[in-house]
Amino acid sequence: MNIVLLGAPGAGKGTQAKLIEEKYGLTHIATGDIFRANIKGGTPIGKLAKSYIDAGKLVPDEVTCELVKDRLVNGEEGAGFMLDGFPRNLYQAEELDKFARIDLCINIDVDKSLLMDRICGRRMCSCGASYHVSTLNGATTCAKCGKPLFQREDDNPQTVGARLDTYASQTAPLEDYYKARGKLVTVDGGSGTPEEVFAVISSVIDKYLK
Ligand code: ADP
Ligand code: ZN
Repeated sequence: MNIVLLGAPGAGKGTQAKLIEEKYGLTHIATGDIFRANIKGGTPIGKLAKSYIDAGKLVPDEVTCELVKDRLVNGEEGAGFMLDGFPRNLYQAEELDKFARIDLCINIDVDKSLLMDRICGRRMCSCGASYHVSTLNGATTCAKCGKPLFQREDDNPQTVGARLDTYASQTAPLEDYYKARGKLVTVDGGSGTPEEVFAVISSVIDKYLK
């Protein structure tokens, strides 16, 4: 099965994607991660993407769609895939429908008032784990693998403000897009622990698989 994960920056898409990947074997494809790897590697795509990412804007559609298309066409997906961070506007959603079949859109809903603190307090590990400063008690290394934690460059108040605006104006309308196609399931991502949110998402996926 193929899933689109929808949700504002800080809604917990990456955290849930990791859990879904472990339990259901779906391949996690995160456009933000792909762009960051390209920036790190100094590739032409990375050079182009950086200015947009730093400004909290969307990387141009032609580049992004091509990237995802290549990945889906050339990848071995086995049980299926889960897109995290794509599509991010109507154009991308329409393009995606031309080259892949989407079964389900899981929309992780979190109140806007929580997002700024979640993102600006976020600390990441290269293993994919993420933490919030308020629970780290001063620790600077990953509890799972011991590597040093870092903060994403775009996790600063100014860029986060722009990312949230971009989400509201360009990405949130996708809820209606998937709703109109009978594929939208909205999950509360703001009041439970990551495990509790995952339990709800699991039940949604299990119901679909039956
Ligand atoms: P978040 O969801 O927390 O904002 P991501 O890692 O998904 O973080 O994305 C980081 C940045 O990468 C976005 O702000 C945007 O600039 C760029 N990006 C990611 N996915 C897309 C996409 N589908 N289309 C255009 N730009 C994207
Ligand atoms: Zn780690």
